[in-house]
Amino acid sequence: MSNIIKLARKTVQALTPYLSARRIGGRGDVWLNANEAPDCSDYQLDSSHLNRYPEFQPPQIINAYAAYSKLNTDQLLTTRGADESIEVLIRTFCEAELDSILICPPTYGMYAISAETCGVGVEQVALQDNFDVDYDAVKKAVLDSQGRIKIVFLCAPNNPTGNMLDQQKLAELLTATEGKALIVADEAYIEFCPEFTQTNLIASHENLVITRTLSKAFALASIRCGFTLAQASVIEMMAKVIAPYPVPGPVAQIAAQALSEDGLEIMRDRVVVLNNNRQVLANAVSELDCVTEVFPTTGNFLLVRFKDSAQVFKAFADDGIIMRDFANKPRLENCIRITIGTSEEMNKTLNTLKAL
Ligand SMILES: *Cc1c(COP(=O)(O)O)cnc(C)c1O
Repeated sequence: MSNIIKLARKTVQALTPYLSARRIGGRGDVWLNANEAPDCSDYQLDSSHLNRYPEFQPPQIINAYAAYSKLNTDQLLTTRGADESIEVLIRTFCEAELDSILICPPTYGMYAISAETCGVGVEQVALQDNFDVDYDAVKKAVLDSQGRIKIVFLCAPNNPTGNMLDQQKLAELLTATEGKALIVADEAYIEFCPEFTQTNLIASHENLVITRTLSKAFALASIRCGFTLAQASVIEMMAKVIAPYPVPGPVAQIAAQALSEDGLEIMRDRVVVLNNNRQVLANAVSELDCVTEVFPTTGNFLLVRFKDSAQVFKAFADDGIIMRDFANKPRLENCIRITIGTSEEMNKTLNTLKAL
């Protein structure tokens, strides 16, 4: 082992880094592997103050997001993407080498990666057969853990299965775990089904945390801007831990434009188009012989199980279409996640499938 490897923390030596869609890469011109939006808006940039450090929490974004989410400004924290929110939550609430987070696989990979890099344990309660959360099992795991499980990460729409949360059962879980664990609802895709947001539970539940992002429906994955929504007491604790200047000035300027009246209208129009493209795709693929299962349609992606996903994945690659392969993840055998793109991209996708 090299000297440098030996110098690194044991947990880092053992770590397998998160393989983002960008790192996996691929060849082609149709990118449907990272749940990015297919279009990009124009933004103005004022560079006259780039010599100054930015505000800790730029008021122009916090005020705009408070109006958009119908929360108070002290119930929000803006971060370098939702991924930073996940990490700051773990660093704020979990004691290294002692505490754990709880995840419900199959789900988004960053919860476990962030915990591991912080030396925090990862415990699991599998999703049910239909990939809904097993609320009773989650509750039991938290209550039986003797205070070890500090954060439960739930994701809705769940990436990659598309399942949603049941608000009644979530509220019961919040009450049962109050004072013991935070329950995080990751709403990265909630703009595609805004009627299912859990923000109305924040006022009555101090242990509810919601994470959001501008990377998906707002079409701004490049700027790295996310939000944490919770009662002010949670936000204050996180503000002690987060970096002093988490949001670069140019990012704040772009985010404020995206969250303006005009920006919100563009986002909502995009959601209408993408939701329609998703429904057309879902209907068409469910008719195909090569398809065995189409998962719930809630975000800007569709998880599809094929008879032979390796053959399908290769056919896509041969046609220059890059998808996200889940086939080697437990319980997602033969599954491919398709990001919803333009109708032209969806037609290309269908044509490849029909030619099989
Ligand atoms: C994309 C995604 C995120 C990360 O969002 P960023 O703001 O780009 O860091 C978080 N959670 C889920 C479920 C996602 O799919």
